[in-house]
Amino acid sequence: MDFAYSPEDQQFRAELRDWLDANLPDFLEEGEIGPVQEDPTRRTMQRRQAWQRRLNEGRWAAINWPREWGGREATIMQNFIYSEEMSQAKAPGVYNANGIWQIGPMILRWGTEEQRQRWLPGILDAQEHWCQGFSEPEAGSDLANLRTQAIRDGEVYVLNGRKIWISTAHLAKWGLFLVRTDPTAIARGVKHEGITALIVDMDGPGIESHPIRDLTGDRLFNEVVFTDAPVPTANLLGDEGSGWLVAMGTLGHERVGTAGMAIGLKAELDGMIASARQHNPEALSDPDIRDRVARAWTQIELTRLLNARALSKVLKGEKTWPEVPLAKLQWSFLSQTLAELNVDMLGPLGILDKGGPDAVESGHAAHNYPWQRYTSIGAGATEVQKNIIADKAIRLPRR
Ligand SMILES: Cc1cc2nc3c(=O)[nH]c(=O)nc-3n(C[C@H](O)[C@H](O)[C@H](O)COP(=O)(O)OP(=O)(O)OC[C@H]3O[C@@H](n4cnc5c(N)ncnc54)[C@H](O)[C@@H]3O)c2cc1C
Repeated sequence: MDFAYSPEDQQFRAELRDWLDANLPDFLEEGEIGPVQEDPTRRTMQRRQAWQRRLNEGRWAAINWPREWGGREATIMQNFIYSEEMSQAKAPGVYNANGIWQIGPMILRWGTEEQRQRWLPGILDAQEHWCQGFSEPEAGSDLANLRTQAIRDGEVYVLNGRKIWISTAHLAKWGLFLVRTDPTAIARGVKHEGITALIVDMDGPGIESHPIRDLTGDRLFNEVVFTDAPVPTANLLGDEGSGWLVAMGTLGHERVGTAGMAIGLKAELDGMIASARQHNPEALSDPDIRDRVARAWTQIELTRLLNARALSKVLKGEKTWPEVPLAKLQWSFLSQTLAELNVDMLGPLGILDKGGPDAVESGHAAHNYPWQRYTSIGAGATEVQKNIIADKAIRLPRR
């Protein structure tokens, strides 16, 4: 590992820290913003919308975007610093995470000037919410197996098919969808071809979003059904048939996007210990709990060093495996480990759900325990990450 912070990087960190000090406590004290939302997903999104607007006022919402579009053209190191500072400050998430980190950069890279003018401002100022429609019942880890059809008919593509697990599709005005414009490609054994990226107006005819109740009881993700849904050809992003390239070309952010993870996890562990000290202090004398806390702490430190090594490699232009798939595994392992530990450290209080008068921190521990199961499937399933490590890093022989 060898990297140093330049004076510009130090200035970047100081400016961000000052801005957070001036804005975050004030934002957190504001409480409810706008009409009271009963649905927890809508309530969270409303807060995120307000926070993203505040970030954008300070030009801190989309640091990677060009300056002319409200960004800061941040370097890799500045991305790392941003991720660390946001985790340290426990800043809320943003309203258009997909839009800022993935879809916006896709539109900047592949969109026409007209498309940029039309869509980028609404992503940035949180005016319009975006979803990302990739997964299908038969296309998850094997995404190139997607089959939702888009057949051109004059000035429109006619969409038929079914997407699944699409986060916040029911709240989105726009979605970036991967669809199949060449239905013969799978049968011809070239499934990565004939895929096209289309921007879809979620209020358009023939499109239905059905929220799915998840393990926690919340309704975050959706089934999205297309029935002869017309989408203007003007909404094509990149060329017809180049959807795989369009979608994959912008995933680079994820290389350093998890950089603040160890800091966030460390802050979470510290918070858990403080909470146990207050609500169930005898847990901290239990040898089993003490052992688990020490092991979690050690794994978090290991993850911090792993991320630092990945950053060092990125800066030197080297390939980042096995660090990137290992960091993904560490993230899901630790998120689930901490969620379990939190419940156990709170004892009987750990299983009280939100709403009850005795629930600690609005029942966060009981809600978070099932929720964290998603981390071993989202953003690359555990077995798939292990396959990558076996194949590319350890080079295990294939049968
Ligand atoms: C909270 C959440 C939010 C999501 N939001 C979105 C969204 O907004 N937009 C979107 O497009 N998608 C979204 N997804 C879907 C997500 O991208 C998929 O769940 C993921 O790609 C895995 O696909 P799958 O669910 O079809 O599982 P599968 O790929 O079918 O995997 C099922 C199991 O089989 C294993 N497996 C698969 N392939 C292999 C292999 N080659 N070798 C060994 N084992 C294997 C997996 O590890 C897993 O355990 C979301 C998922 C979650 C959990």
